[in-house]
Amino acid sequence: MIPPIARNFVAGTTGPRALDHVADLNEDDVGGILNLLGEHYSKRPPADEDADEYVSLVDAIAESDLDCCISVKPSQIGLDVGDEVFVENLERIVTAADEHGIFTWVDMEDHDTTDVTLDAFEKLTLETDGNVGVCVQANLKRTPEDLERLADLPGKVRLVKGAYAPPKSIAYRDRARVTEIYKDLLEEMFQTFDDGIAVGSHDPAMIAHAKQLHDEYGTDFEVQMLMGVREDAQRDLARDGYRTWQYVPYGDKWFSYFYRRVRERKENALFAIRAVLS
Ligand code: FAD
Repeated sequence: MIPPIARNFVAGTTGPRALDHVADLNEDDVGGILNLLGEHYSKRPPADEDADEYVSLVDAIAESDLDCCISVKPSQIGLDVGDEVFVENLERIVTAADEHGIFTWVDMEDHDTTDVTLDAFEKLTLETDGNVGVCVQANLKRTPEDLERLADLPGKVRLVKGAYAPPKSIAYRDRARVTEIYKDLLEEMFQTFDDGIAVGSHDPAMIAHAKQLHDEYGTDFEVQMLMGVREDAQRDLARDGYRTWQYVPYGDKWFSYFYRRVRERKENALFAIRAVLS
């Protein structure tokens, strides 16, 4: 049972609860990206179990007919156990999702997992004719080169600022610098991608930049934000005709995720407390 204070950021402990939340989002034309909470398993059984849960989840999404896809963390499905375990489980999930026409996102984790994650994405997005997406992080110095590779592939790419703290030698650490780089990378994507651009940011300046680039280059894009963050803006974007998705975490490992949201921004804690009191 999730306490009320965390319910703004986590949709419940079970798949059916999370699907109820997505049904509410769909009422406002916002799509749902379901993420089962869990990461960094050092043993194979929990990684296989979470992969099994995703396979059951895509069956439930298909039955529900909701506007909903999934997003998977590599270390949740076995990357810390071995590259081959991750690839095998991801293939299992993507195949099950693709059979139902459901889209699979692959989250990006620490910098030393970028190569294996992009390789797995490339293989599966080619096999499914683009029914897979991958996240790339603007704070990594390698990302311009990665985007050149990704521009030639089917599927979608979510650009984020980056939630991890890689070493200075390979990453930008200054937040203002990362924001400038994000804008440049977005422009590169609008210039070189035919479609499949996902803006994974709550930053009003990044959303405004994307709208401007869309007007300039004509390339379509979608916006993705987290559950519990700028939800009014999510609905406004959808109402204005922009394809908008909410990343919806669920599952019994909700505590560390909620704690991270509160720690990264004190307004999140205040917002959660206000929602409980009102
Ligand atoms: P920030 O740079 O944190 O903030 C910029 C501005 O945005 C703020 O000044 C404010 O105006 C506004 N803002 C931000 N947060 C709030 C808030 N809570 N309330 C009101 N206004 C706010 N990172 C990864 O490394 N790998 C991933 O796979 C990954 N997937 C993601 C998926 C999605 C859908 C999203 C939205 C983010 C994901 N991230 C991922 C996290 C990302 O890297 C950033 O750490 C995170 O999004 C914060 O950067 P930002 O651009 O949203 O805004």
